Amino acid sequence: MLKNISKLNIVRIGSYITHSSLKEIGNGILESFKGTIKEFKVSHHDSPVLDNIDAHLLTMILDEEYGGHTLGITDADLKTENEFYNSIFGGKNPKNDVAVVSTKKLSPQEITSDKEYDLFIGRTLKVSVHEVGHNFGLTDHASYKKALDGSLCPMSRGEYNKFGLRGYVRAIIDGRGLNFYDECIGFLSAIYDYKRSQTNLMKDALICPYFLYNTLGKKGQIQMAANLQGANLQGAKLEGAILQEADLEGAILEKGKP
Ligand SMILES: [Zn+2]
Repeated sequence: MLKNISKLNIVRIGSYITHSSLKEIGNGILESFKGTIKEFKVSHHDSPVLDNIDAHLLTMILDEEYGGHTLGITDADLKTENEFYNSIFGGKNPKNDVAVVSTKKLSPQEITSDKEYDLFIGRTLKVSVHEVGHNFGLTDHASYKKALDGSLCPMSRGEYNKFGLRGYVRAIIDGRGLNFYDECIGFLSAIYDYKRSQTNLMKDALICPYFLYNTLGKKGQIQMAANLQGANLQGAKLEGAILQEADLEGAILEKGKP
């Protein structure tokens, strides 16, 4: 089991990702692991400009230099001749607590706008969450499990052969969100101090109101029900909420009481 889980070293290796983007990635990881990882530290590891790095060797270097729970991000290609590595985008060495991510194949065709850069950073974050998930002992699932917000679970994995590289990035990596699906949450909650944070659920309010509704106290439920009525139940994703119409109406009625 992972030691020193509450602190994550994020180490940039020869990459052109800015310091503020690395912090954005760190904050995204904190959000995904809800209380399990409490802080991160960003460092830069000097290395000669390399076109590719042996992934296994890189994890050993980072483990020796930084120790503990570490995520290395590089723009070099990660060579994966080793069976321990699960993808061409990143890998995790089971003998230490180091995961590494390569941004090489995550870039859009070109980065000429903020939108393209944001997409690139978003992809790097998603692959980082996936690899850190492996650090926690989560395994890949290839059955396109979705989290409550409707996005693919960060641990989703498809077949490269089926999609091709660019298609894979768009279908699987872009399709992932930052929230895990039930079984992954169950695993993290059972083994680690993973919190089902209400702050994060609030963000999902428009997508999955009934789930949120259920987690609120009576006063919150009444407010939520009133909001839902105004929100005009936004389509198919709200089916769960529509099924619970009776409960919601009960709450709305109570709103009128003194
Ligand atoms: Zn994986």
